Amino acid sequence: MDEVSEVNERILGRIFSEDVIYERIKDLCLIGSRFSGTESEKEAQEYMVHFLKSYGVKVYDYEFEYQGWIRGDCYFEIESSKIKQEFPAISLVLAPSTNGETIEGTIIDGGGGSETELKRIDDSIPGKIVMINSGDTEEGWLHRRIKYANAVDFGAKVFVFANHNPGQLFPTGSVRSNRIGEIPAIGISKETYELVKEMIAQEEIVNCKVKVTNETPKLTSKHIIWEIPGEIEDEVIVIGGHYDGHDIAQGAVDNAASIATILELAKLYKRFNYVPKRTLRFIAFAVEEFGVVGSTIYANNVDLSDVVAMINFDGLVGHIPKHITCSGIEELFILMNSLKSQMLYDPRVSKSIVTASDNYPFFLKGIPNVCIFGEKPDPRVGRGYGHTSADTFDKITRLDAKLSLAFAFVLIDVFSNLEEMPKKLKENDIIKILRDAKLEDQLKLLEKWPFK
Ligand SMILES: [Zn+2]
Repeated sequence: MDEVSEVNERILGRIFSEDVIYERIKDLCLIGSRFSGTESEKEAQEYMVHFLKSYGVKVYDYEFEYQGWIRGDCYFEIESSKIKQEFPAISLVLAPSTNGETIEGTIIDGGGGSETELKRIDDSIPGKIVMINSGDTEEGWLHRRIKYANAVDFGAKVFVFANHNPGQLFPTGSVRSNRIGEIPAIGISKETYELVKEMIAQEEIVNCKVKVTNETPKLTSKHIIWEIPGEIEDEVIVIGGHYDGHDIAQGAVDNAASIATILELAKLYKRFNYVPKRTLRFIAFAVEEFGVVGSTIYANNVDLSDVVAMINFDGLVGHIPKHITCSGIEELFILMNSLKSQMLYDPRVSKSIVTASDNYPFFLKGIPNVCIFGEKPDPRVGRGYGHTSADTFDKITRLDAKLSLAFAFVLIDVFSNLEEMPKKLKENDIIKILRDAKLEDQLKLLEKWPFK
């Protein structure tokens, strides 16, 4: 047995013999939401820095300015011939205030909010308050920001985003990236949505009142960064995950669990003097939930010429099967499939292109990247409890936390020790991948298409 695999065995043994990863996740959750602009965001930064320093890991940060957003009150009232009632609702992130005014109007149902669905009712949309649910659309799954952009383009005056999962849970999330949206946007539960739909079916015209108060200051935040030097120092693998959650939740699965994982890895590397072949640069990204803002600013302003690959963890822990997405990069897809058998248990490997997480800005710079999730359709991962107040640490199991840590360790180890890294992409390659996946129109709508 060579020296490297001996170290690996000791690290893997340690992962399973101690229970610290679960406790680390809990710590991060108990700090609070870590939502951008809150005290708990600062506390999380201090927690990470203190933890890393206590194990002798050198830490630095990357500070940047962004469009902040602070939640205020939200009033939502429904009036028909039968009822006049207030229902609980919350504002979506980066949605504007109604500036002390109450917006009144007819409320209509826009279904899943795809262009196909909205076109069918396009005459009735201008000036209306439009409900759109978070479920699949006739065009497949669409990100909330696409649905919002569609509602704006079709002339809606308020975007009402309804959860497609039961449980009186309000969905939250950003409506634009790093800028304030055009129209107010609120989240309502599936139960409220079903009731309003029923009233519309019975009476045709149902009226609605919406009043929201949010603050929109310019703020600064920072990424927390640490490195494990490799034998080849000038070839860097960036390993990232966002530490911010949504203000209404603990953000346990999304994404405290991934941050706890990379913090524990740093500790294990130090404790066992692990030296990877290539340098590992870990980045705990800030301001992801505002539309992948922090990592986009980082990738656009930092020299990435020595970065040969990027691994992103978003919702890593929470359910045992894992899904490795390869951003449409054929070479990476073949490579990840060939490495699968070494990763302790069989993850799903796909060519899916994740454009709504911190790997995407690196992809746009031509860097081979993978994004790893817990596999759906478990409600703990993705848009089940995600982005609602139910994303709490009880959704994490101790066993999955350990398995995920072991999985992350092996994945990074195998990937960073490759003889040859996958080729970087040229602009033409990136455009071809995105066009082949029919993402060009969506990305333009999202203001995430930087090409001419
Ligand atoms: Zn996330």
